[in-house]
Amino acid sequence: MRIGQALASARAIGVDRLDAQLLLAHLLGRTRAWLLAHDEQQLDAAQATTLQSWIARRAAGEPLAYVVGETEFRGLALQVTPAVLVPRPETELLVEWALELLAPAPAGAVVDLGTGSGAVALAVKHARPDVAVCASDASAPALALAQANAARHGLDIEWAEGDWWAPLAGRRFGLALSNPPYIAGDDPHLAALAHEPRAALTPEGDGLVALRRIVAGAPAQLLPGAWLLLEHGHDQAAAVHSLFAAQGFAAAQTRADLAGLPRCTGACWRAAT
Ligand code: GLN
Repeated sequence: MRIGQALASARAIGVDRLDAQLLLAHLLGRTRAWLLAHDEQQLDAAQATTLQSWIARRAAGEPLAYVVGETEFRGLALQVTPAVLVPRPETELLVEWALELLAPAPAGAVVDLGTGSGAVALAVKHARPDVAVCASDASAPALALAQANAARHGLDIEWAEGDWWAPLAGRRFGLALSNPPYIAGDDPHLAALAHEPRAALTPEGDGLVALRRIVAGAPAQLLPGAWLLLEHGHDQAAAVHSLFAAQGFAAAQTRADLAGLPRCTGACWRAAT
């Protein structure tokens, strides 16, 4: 089979052009530009067989990142498996905001709660190797994957296995970040995300369960003046503001993602006086 034919056959079973090109580029270790210039090139039998299975998986709705086993987050190549959520571009907002807060001078270690693939923790550590970064996750397979991602990039992170703050009891941090599950348990969008771990997408119930637990636990784990930044659903900003207010946080503000949707809310724990 030639490259041009392979791309056409992928599209014929409903895989869009970009995804088909990305699959083939990954398989051949080439760029998309190279593919376009070589559409007469033959695939060997093994390549054609692998590509066919990848295309069938993608056509069945499996995220591209799982099919090829990796994705990119803020320029870092990360291994991903169905044990973790595929890192989303909107989560880069959490990292950008964290880096702004760290710019003057970090006042303590950074913690990423529910790190999954490690994307947020690794992106922060990569940008700020001078800052101590700790990451927790309740899932052992997720932590193992995050560790492998850290090793791949030579980044030194402290890992903690357990729910949210639980494995970090008694510690206080200078900045806390989390992209917890926040989709409501009965949200019809979950059907389209069925390949990803349900527990990473929804805490069930109204979708606020994990956000509530993280905010409620924060006062005991933050240094004075530390910020807690949370990713949340586009319709949850007001609820997250209320959670922060109820715990006595100050200066709460919400930022929009690239699609213009309110996506992250952060607040400051008892600003140092
Ligand atoms: N932003 C993801 C989505 O809607 C959900 C991620 C999450 O629950 N933390 O697909």
